[in-house]
Amino acid sequence: MTKKKSAKKYVYFFGKGKSEGKAEMKELLGGKGANLAEMASIGVPVPPGFTISTEVCDYYYKHGKKKPTVLQKQIDANIKKLEKAMGARLGDPKEPLLVSVRSGAAVSMPGMMDTVLNLGINDEVVKGLIAKTGNERMGWDSYRRFINMFGDVCMGVDHEHYENELSRIKKKYKRDLDTELTVKELKEVVSAYKKVYKKYVGRNFPTDARVQLEHAIDAVIKSWNIPRAVAYRRINKLAGLKGTAVNVQAMAFGNMGDSSGTGVAFTRNPANGDNKFYGEYLINAQGEDVVAGIRTPHPLKDLRKEMPKMYKQLEGIRHKLEKHYRDMQDVEFTIQEGRLFMLQTRTGKRTGLAAVKMAVDMVKEGLINDKTALQRLEGDHLNQLLFPIFDLKSKSSAMKEKRDVAKGLPAGPGAAYGHVVFTADDAVKVARTGKKVVLVRKETSPEDVSGMWAAEAILTSTGGMTSHAAVVARGWGKCCVVGCAALNIDYNKKQVKVGSKTIKNHEMISVDGTSGEVILGKVETSASPVVLGILQGDKEALKNPICKMFKEVMKWSDKYRKINVRTNADSPKDATNAVLFGAEGIGLTRTEHMFFEGDRIWAVREMILAEDQAGREKALKKLLPYQRKDFEGIFKAMNGLPVTIRLLDPPLHEFLPNDAEGQKKMARRLRTTPAAVKAKVASLHEMNPMLGHRGCRLSITYPEICKMQVRAIIEAACNVARKGIKVMPEIMIPLIGTKEEYDILERITREVADSIIKERRSHVKYLVGTMMEIPRATLVADAVAEKAEFFSFGTNDLTQMTFGYSRDDIGSFLPEYLESKVLKVDPFASIDQEGVGKLVSCGVQKGRQTRKNLKCGVCGEHGGDPDSVKFFARAGLDYVSCSPFRVPIARLAAAQAALNNS
Ligand code: PEP
Ligand code: MG
Repeated sequence: MTKKKSAKKYVYFFGKGKSEGKAEMKELLGGKGANLAEMASIGVPVPPGFTISTEVCDYYYKHGKKKPTVLQKQIDANIKKLEKAMGARLGDPKEPLLVSVRSGAAVSMPGMMDTVLNLGINDEVVKGLIAKTGNERMGWDSYRRFINMFGDVCMGVDHEHYENELSRIKKKYKRDLDTELTVKELKEVVSAYKKVYKKYVGRNFPTDARVQLEHAIDAVIKSWNIPRAVAYRRINKLAGLKGTAVNVQAMAFGNMGDSSGTGVAFTRNPANGDNKFYGEYLINAQGEDVVAGIRTPHPLKDLRKEMPKMYKQLEGIRHKLEKHYRDMQDVEFTIQEGRLFMLQTRTGKRTGLAAVKMAVDMVKEGLINDKTALQRLEGDHLNQLLFPIFDLKSKSSAMKEKRDVAKGLPAGPGAAYGHVVFTADDAVKVARTGKKVVLVRKETSPEDVSGMWAAEAILTSTGGMTSHAAVVARGWGKCCVVGCAALNIDYNKKQVKVGSKTIKNHEMISVDGTSGEVILGKVETSASPVVLGILQGDKEALKNPICKMFKEVMKWSDKYRKINVRTNADSPKDATNAVLFGAEGIGLTRTEHMFFEGDRIWAVREMILAEDQAGREKALKKLLPYQRKDFEGIFKAMNGLPVTIRLLDPPLHEFLPNDAEGQKKMARRLRTTPAAVKAKVASLHEMNPMLGHRGCRLSITYPEICKMQVRAIIEAACNVARKGIKVMPEIMIPLIGTKEEYDILERITREVADSIIKERRSHVKYLVGTMMEIPRATLVADAVAEKAEFFSFGTNDLTQMTFGYSRDDIGSFLPEYLESKVLKVDPFASIDQEGVGKLVSCGVQKGRQTRKNLKCGVCGEHGGDPDSVKFFARAGLDYVSCSPFRVPIARLAAAQAALNNS
């Protein structure tokens, strides 16, 4: 006889100390179902019930909205089991069983899907319920809630129709609160609700509990695909889920009078991480009352006085759950006439501060080890400790007042407020008077740096995550939002239009560089003790627990990480900050950033204006001492750590003024005519400057630029070495695409460097290597590595040239690309692993075929992005380099990469 194949299991029972599911079965039972099962198993009081698996939802949508045929049988069997456990029956007026029907996917989607409570009531059952509980008011209150919820959720009757009836009756009897309605009045509400139901559904309210249940199960399954749930999954990038599970569970009644109630709680404070029970509750209420905000809930600590026994039991459960799950839990509970029931537990969401504090505390408490602690933290959690953040109260009142008027790309961290200015000069002037300013530009250019520095925040209407404004602001750790297309900036009128609002010159705005939000008016901020302590050496701040926790997390990260973390820094100050944050070298000094400071721009302009080599050399001679001094400062700050210095990279036109006023000023200063300046600007104009005369191409056509820079680097190294400070310069040639480009410049570099070292009888050692930022270079990396001693992947340009997306213009189409899923993430923010990433891997492999120990790093903005750092670690890079304020995040990500691999 052949054995009959057993039907697929779709329904899982839980309760009374034994469950068919467990916490690990989230995919199948959803988060809520899996944790209800787990709680029941470990002896936490949970009303019994059963979970219909997510596979039913999956089946439903794959089979023309039909459920599996074997399901009903399994539901029936589980109802029987539940009835037995409760000693009551669904639809039985004598021993009525009421149930809740709730959704729950593998990943929490708070409030997005539907729930029905009090299911099983009809005109007979309500009487039985009253006889059983002796609580008439609760019976009618539950009934009216059920008709409302069932009609709304299962039949699409607008909640407002019920609400209107309720308001009418409350007004009639002069009642302010629902809880003040008498039994007689509640009965009137029930009959009014039934009429509403009949009017909008066209049938009487169903009295058969089984029919009610079927409708409710269907409604929950259908709620998987209602627009708000679909939108939530899209926004939160939740793909690949099977669907929602359906939890049918015996009701626990929080609305049975003053010895009943309901609440939500966190096992620790989710805002600051304090190991204190935190939550709120309402007496004589059901779950939705807490969330609906009709009545104001009490803080959980009041329950200690109001119901000491319940509070004590809840405290016990709090500890039990934390010990079991080893993480902060977010729970829902109901008290039914002095009996406590837990209705949900899940890992609680938390702020960055709370995440770090909980991780550190839990290691101290022995709840988790440091590896688990590290894996729980996100880069953004650390970020929140490094920058000023908006005061939560101040921000929420701004939101309530709908002052958030636009959103751009979050390019530079932190939050700031200030008076709007439209030019860099104005930023400097107004900031000098002691006022905080926000510099608002369509885009920024190197000319704007002093204004950018003076501003609290930079806001641009164009540009992407690697635009000038973004790169510079991130380097400084300054708040910056770019690509905020909703801003219509009018420089002439000195105003910005955004929607129907106009922001005038010097009006106050607030900018959130972590979320990209732009808010009208002032939102208060609070400073970071980590920055005050670690960077500014403030003794009090160093004692601050936040600072200590931060250091602890960094210590753990360094214990596990395998790759190094360097920084991109162009000044001794940035370099010093980065070292204080744990940088182990400089991965990129963009020398051109030094050209704008003080008087040196005039020497640069003189060089550009020169007609011949001799003229250029004369101007370069003026620049030499400046550059040498810059490098000396950086070498000293880095005190023996490796320093990668890149030769000049941007196209020359970036150093010239574009406006007539600026050109006139330049002509006066350099003793020429405005026309000559204008002609030079025109001659340098390129259709595609990013693909034009820049990078190594500049030094090949004007070798004297390369020679001056190498001289400055090596002379500085010799000078500093003479003072007994170790120096390790690494000279980097930018933007090569061919071996020949590299070889030419390598030869010039070595000739200049070696002759200085020889002449000075110095022992300074240096390396020469190249950026890998043109796709072709990665493909011929084996040939390039014959002479190159290191590669540094410039993933900003590599992304730009691999995708063919301008890094400065991506803002104009990126939002739509993300929306329509052409791109999953901004490729300038997080490395495109399947495309650009392959070129990185190819470059590393090919390079090391030729030179086994070739040092490889990355210095594009991706070096500070946690996902990218993990990818680079897998690709075998020796280090990542990022802006100083991203160094801690990169250290954490590097540790996570090592832990994931081990
Ligand atoms: C790069 O292209 O990744 C890079 C680091 O250089 P820049 O951003 O200066 O072009
Ligand atoms: Mg580049």
